[in-house]
Amino acid sequence: MSKLAINGGTPVRSRPLPPNYPGAVVYGKEEADFASEVIYAQSPFRYYGPHMKGAVEALENAMTRDFGVPYALAVTSGTAALIVAMKALGIGYGDKVIVPANTFLATAGAVVCSNAVPVFCDVDDSLNLDPADLDRVYDEDVKAVIVVPILGNPVDMDPVVAFAKKHGIAVIEDVAQSCGVRYKGRYAGTIGDIGTFSFQMNKIITSGEGGAVATHDVKLMERAIRYHDQGMIRHRDRYGIDSPDDAFAFSGQNYRMNELSGAVMLEQWKKLPSIVANMKKRHDRIADALAAEIPGIRFRACPDPDGCIGSNLGIIFPTAEATASFNRALNAENVQAHILYGGKPVYMNPSLLHRRSAEKDGFPYNYPFNKPVVYTEDMCPKAVDLIPRTTYIPISPILTDGDADDIIEAVAKVHRELQVVV
Ligand SMILES: *Cc1c(COP(=O)(O)O)cnc(C)c1O
Repeated sequence: MSKLAINGGTPVRSRPLPPNYPGAVVYGKEEADFASEVIYAQSPFRYYGPHMKGAVEALENAMTRDFGVPYALAVTSGTAALIVAMKALGIGYGDKVIVPANTFLATAGAVVCSNAVPVFCDVDDSLNLDPADLDRVYDEDVKAVIVVPILGNPVDMDPVVAFAKKHGIAVIEDVAQSCGVRYKGRYAGTIGDIGTFSFQMNKIITSGEGGAVATHDVKLMERAIRYHDQGMIRHRDRYGIDSPDDAFAFSGQNYRMNELSGAVMLEQWKKLPSIVANMKKRHDRIADALAAEIPGIRFRACPDPDGCIGSNLGIIFPTAEATASFNRALNAENVQAHILYGGKPVYMNPSLLHRRSAEKDGFPYNYPFNKPVVYTEDMCPKAVDLIPRTTYIPISPILTDGDADDIIEAVAKVHRELQVVV
């Protein structure tokens, strides 16, 4: 018997593990050098300057080359990327968009800010969207489905894409948390009609803030470029886009990425393969050892384990209470674990549950939909059940094998001493 740290015993680790910022913890000379080149070149704007370095464009080219997708556009955030994606698809007032019940507030918020209305699809044991629930939420007002690979595990895309094809709706992949995830060999974000990425600090690679969209469709790319840059297209020759503004321009935003972010992001992009390889290696080491040590331990399901990037290990406990005590005890051993989003489906956020936007008169919820939008707390029962009993252990790309072994030891210790039933 070894006494739990939470009960006054000696913690498995004397010091915490590295913080959970996979891209930022590998910042180094590469990011610093290219960012300072941009400074010395006095050219922080992507479209003009005295000695342009072309950092943002180089980032986009690296993305298209490495992810096997013809078009990528860097923007200012993952939220901006979602809004650009919806505007590229022509989604707006009078449209509904299917959003998974387990996601960050931004996924659903971006739908509302695009003047459409989110409707919520349940999750399955993968904690990602359950394709079997799509029929329940679909009606003729639905124009797109957003899938969200949560914390490094792919979404089961085949049934989602088949469903979308059958109904003639678009698939948007919100890959904010999962850059580098693959599904059946293809990169998440390049499988649906349009993929959106975030480079905020909590994500896999980062410039503090930033984002991108990716697509195979030049028409979507043209609309994305226009929406992100006040309706304009500055480098038409780059994509062979020759549509005249007179006929094609519309009012847009300024979601342009700056060159300092582009410089940092290009160097982060080059590090993505090693970040993913390191996370995946430790993730699998920990998962394999725990499976051997704790018979019956239940991991979060994954439709394609090879495509998982290993940024987090998800464990499902029988009750929310068991999960909470496990997390408290594990954190006292100096190994982090946490549930997501306060243990609740995204639609439990007051702004969504009460159907509020920044606009007057209930816009865009006031549209006379054929089937009115009604939210109830229990509309996605599996999400209500699973989210508070799924804990995630972050796996940093700079963990050593020794750190991974500490995680194994701590989880096994807490499991044994708390007698959590799996
Ligand atoms: C972080 C996140 C976003 C928003 O990204 P930002 O760059 O912070 O705007 C969108 N969707 C999901 C699933 C996220 O985790």
